[in-house]
Amino acid sequence: MLAIAALALGACGQTPAQPAGDRPRVVASTSIVADVVRQIGGDKIALSTLVPVGTDAHSFAPAPQDVVTISEAQIVFVNGAGYEAFLEPLLKSAGGSAELIELAKGITLREMSAQELAADDDHADEGHADEAGHDHSGDDPHTWTDPNNVKYWTSAISESLSRIDPTNAGFYAANAEAYNIKLSELDAWAAQEFATIPPAQRLLVTDHAVFGYLADRYGLTQVGTIIPGGSSAAEASAQDLAALQDQIRSLGVKAIFVGNVSNPSMAERLAQDTGVKLVTVLTESLTPPDGPGATYIDYMRSNVSTIVGALR
Ligand SMILES: [Zn+2]
Repeated sequence: MLAIAALALGACGQTPAQPAGDRPRVVASTSIVADVVRQIGGDKIALSTLVPVGTDAHSFAPAPQDVVTISEAQIVFVNGAGYEAFLEPLLKSAGGSAELIELAKGITLREMSAQELAADDDHADEGHADEAGHDHSGDDPHTWTDPNNVKYWTSAISESLSRIDPTNAGFYAANAEAYNIKLSELDAWAAQEFATIPPAQRLLVTDHAVFGYLADRYGLTQVGTIIPGGSSAAEASAQDLAALQDQIRSLGVKAIFVGNVSNPSMAERLAQDTGVKLVTVLTESLTPPDGPGATYIDYMRSNVSTIVGALR
């Protein structure tokens, strides 16, 4: 019986490095969510991540083993707000008893501006595939780009872990408190950094509308995106691109930012046509451990430094 159990575990590609043992089995949707969960749960939980580092959650295609991972979980942490469009069919087929925790709950979602949603009427080809409403709702799902929102995540994570593992409730609460202090420090530092950009130059052009919460918090404006809306899975039209070129020229936009998990070809062409520099930022995923965004806080520090350096 034991041997069979060991075999079954060995066959599963997402088995945590350490055997789960009695520890709560916890799943996180993305590497960003997983890092924050790890900061609170430490080695008291057995954590698996669904979307691998370097993969775009907007267009992630789950594998059969992800169904197994979810069916064995007690809690699945997601950003929510329609971000993990891939997850709903997985949860339905997993047949487990995992509790789904949407970390965006409790956060006031920002609605994307008309500029960010430009050309939102040419989604006709998507049909029913977008039941979750990601591209249509107008709610910006990228809550983590403002560290103050991540403080809501830490409370939700700490409370949920304590509920399934009350023995370690003190450990989770202490970690959440310590991490919130780091988030406050990150926020204060980011505010200082962005304040060094002359106000007229605080303009963001990105591949899709990823930095809305960051822009709102630190006084930047998302003047336009190459792909309309808040998902990198949408498509741009020639008219939109021409209008964006005009805007880049007339506003004197200093840089075009492209995500580390996005296809850069359209952004490259736009940069070439406008003579504006192209800069890579971290968007939907952390980096591998030896990269600049191995943790959420490193990810944010890297992005702030990159954006400030490009716009100043
Ligand atoms: Zn995105």
